[in-house]
Amino acid sequence: MNNIKKKCLLENIKLIDLNLCFQNFGNVSLKIDNDRFVIKPSGVDLNKIDYRDFPIISIKSGNILEGKLNPSSDTKTHLILYKNFKNITSVAHTHSRFATIWAQSKKEIPILGTTHADYWNVPIPITKTMKKSEIKNNYELNTGKKIIELMKSKNLDYKFCPGVLVASHGPFTWGLSHEGAVTNAEILEYVSNLAFHTILLNPKTSVNNEIINKHFKRKHGQNAYYGQGKNIAK
Ligand SMILES: [Zn+2]
Repeated sequence: MNNIKKKCLLENIKLIDLNLCFQNFGNVSLKIDNDRFVIKPSGVDLNKIDYRDFPIISIKSGNILEGKLNPSSDTKTHLILYKNFKNITSVAHTHSRFATIWAQSKKEIPILGTTHADYWNVPIPITKTMKKSEIKNNYELNTGKKIIELMKSKNLDYKFCPGVLVASHGPFTWGLSHEGAVTNAEILEYVSNLAFHTILLNPKTSVNNEIINKHFKRKHGQNAYYGQGKNIAK
């Protein structure tokens, strides 16, 4: 158990090292098994805490099973993602600069080139604005519900859409491995940055569907041929 807690600490530190965190805004959780996940404690200095105190949460009940420290305030958002996306084993949330700019602008991120298409074959979607009542009560749980609702409404598979924007807030990403969520947070930020500057230079630019599909299918699905493995979904 301590191994996975330590890994959770390291993935949270990686989020900072990749420059994806502003102040202390950001958190990573890792799934332990079908019943439990470990998550960053709330408002702590990662250099000063003992990873053995990291809280472990029940996926079924949401209760804290062990750990001396209070879990991240976003724990219920992570929880609902684990409940609905059965095969994910990591979740990350950041306020990384360009992804947050898109989220605050309440705009999905259009596909403008192959970097985006290597990972998402759709625009990176954005949730609907939350209602006052959804903010007032169970805010973090409702944030997660908005993400699930978004994925369902657009008929998106979480394996091929490894992250979304939450309107007025920032990105949530997930992965099929313990490293996946942070890697996808880094990719999402890079794609957000590219799209922002591309539109500044040429607001009317576009990319054709053939090249999007070509790049996506090189890396995902049955006929993937990029790299050494059959599929790069992380
Ligand atoms: Zn946040």
